[in-house]
Amino acid sequence: MVELQAIGKWYGHHQVLKNCSCQVREGEIVVVCGPSGSGKSTLIKTINGLEPVQEGVIRIKGRSIQDGGPDFAKLRASVGMVFQHFELFPHLTVLQNLTIAQKVVLGRDEKAAVEKALLLLEKVGMAGHRQKYPSQLSGGQQQRIAIARSLCMDPFLMLFDEPTSALDPEMVSEVLEVMRDLAQEGMTMMVVTHEMGFARNIADRILFMEDGAIVDNTDAHSFFAGAPSERAQLFLSRIL
Ligand code: ATP
Ligand code: MG
Repeated sequence: MVELQAIGKWYGHHQVLKNCSCQVREGEIVVVCGPSGSGKSTLIKTINGLEPVQEGVIRIKGRSIQDGGPDFAKLRASVGMVFQHFELFPHLTVLQNLTIAQKVVLGRDEKAAVEKALLLLEKVGMAGHRQKYPSQLSGGQQQRIAIARSLCMDPFLMLFDEPTSALDPEMVSEVLEVMRDLAQEGMTMMVVTHEMGFARNIADRILFMEDGAIVDNTDAHSFFAGAPSERAQLFLSRIL
């Protein structure tokens, strides 16, 4: 479904992604971990075209995203992304946050957009909060809204960049639970996270990054049975 082939990216003279290759198959949950600054966020942002690359090829469903073309915007809209900071529109209600892109990007009418939004608010346990503004919600609630908002666009792939790392500890599990449900429903997901308990539960594959390179790309079972590289072991021993 997603294929990165020998990706290279530079900021000025600083190379931040080095010869990164990996694949995410349909229905697969790939967790990306590694030290701060190793390139995790940059890597997943290249997949929906948020970060252009200077080298290599990125294919989604067999199509190179660098080729552009008229349906590229549509392809991009069907890759959902949830960030560390929830990035809801502060001046819009929860319901409006969930309907706006459906109307503007997908051309849905108000009725269809609201119907979809209510369905997803239900799914993330937030149906009772539809008229509130983001500032009236806890961080965990806002993040669940951000996930619901992405799901309103019918994504075939969800990218998560440390979705729980800005949350108070007691709110982490409510967000992880929503993600776990998604995983169980078969959503294809790429997740940057340091929640290794969560990774152990749901990941099929672990990518470990260091200094811009993917240094381990292992099925989750073998990774946790004895992380292959010494660096990854050291990393795990620090955070577990
Ligand atoms: P963290 O765990 O702290 O989120 P990360 O693994 O996600 O780190 P990235 O944010 O992808 O790392 O950053 C990779 C490298 O790219 C870092 O050295 C960072 O300083 C650099 N970098 C990221 N964004 C920019 C930018 N807009 N301009 C210049 N350098 C950048
Ligand atoms: Mg990051």
